[in-house]
Amino acid sequence: MPSRGLQYPGSFAEVRAWFPDDEACMDYLDWLRWPAGPVCPACGHTAASAAVVSGRVWRCGACTKRVSRTAGTIFQDTRTPLTVWFAAGWYMTADPGGVSALTMQKLLGLGSYQTAWAMLHRYRTAMVRPGRELLSGRVEVDETLLGGEQPGPRGRGALGKTLVVIAVELLEPKGYGRARMKVITDASASSLREFLLATVEPGATVVSDGWSGYPNACQEWFEHEPHAIAGSGSQAHELLPAVHRVASLCKRWLMGTHQGRVEPEHLRAYLEEFCFRFNRRHARARGLLFYRLLQNAVHADPLTYRQMVANPQPKAVTPTGVLGARSRPGSLALPPEDRPWRTTTDLE
Ligand SMILES: [Zn+2]
Repeated sequence: MPSRGLQYPGSFAEVRAWFPDDEACMDYLDWLRWPAGPVCPACGHTAASAAVVSGRVWRCGACTKRVSRTAGTIFQDTRTPLTVWFAAGWYMTADPGGVSALTMQKLLGLGSYQTAWAMLHRYRTAMVRPGRELLSGRVEVDETLLGGEQPGPRGRGALGKTLVVIAVELLEPKGYGRARMKVITDASASSLREFLLATVEPGATVVSDGWSGYPNACQEWFEHEPHAIAGSGSQAHELLPAVHRVASLCKRWLMGTHQGRVEPEHLRAYLEEFCFRFNRRHARARGLLFYRLLQNAVHADPLTYRQMVANPQPKAVTPTGVLGARSRPGSLALPPEDRPWRTTTDLE
């Protein structure tokens, strides 16, 4: 297991001390990506003869191809200094409630809200690890409605909110394991089955309510344990306490940290962020989340700004600044160039 003070920083003070400038940040990303030295994507040549040419480019010692150190990561083509990215990654993982783009913009003194939002969103896309394990044992599954500021009618198919399916592992004798959440178009057997096959280990037990979609979704792949509410004398949240707990924590997070301002087309990414944090709620150090986030980030596909703001349902009003010119945010590199307070003796 990676340890604090060796593989990852233990505090924000340590982040600032370890990563005073972009080159230190870049070196940490290199180390996460190529622990044994860089590998040339063209000829597969490793380590020893590779040399840094300039800033963010390696030149392969064997085939002389130039290799971008950020290509194939979420940091590809970014104009934001890595010192700012690292501070953002720390804030995003250090607080159990995460951070909103607006708060991030203020904390880091960023000129634009979009820069803050784009950083957080790129990190969110890196929170899903490809090939992560399937949930196993007994797994509670249910759908719920999330997002949307206006309270819509309750039940399946309500307007103004997005239908989300939630799966949570049940531990023996008690307690919850890992959670997964996904936006679904409807609660049909085929939608539920697609989610289950991608999320739950075959042969595991699916615990659901009495909804008729589940028997057909489980079929021969999963054991099915329906808890029908009719005649049970129980409330819905008592029948499936794990998914209701996760749903209410997620709602509270969306309404609290993000004040309910999550657009439906981006909800999927917010759910990944919620699960990333929920599934690491017992981590012995917050820095471990920072480490995992950056580790995922150097292996995640880059995302262009246009891809991020792509919206399948065109809006009447285009948010200002989204596709306009962006300035390069100020660096957090240390030490600062000057001591501005020394330019004055006016203390009033
Ligand atoms: Zn090469």
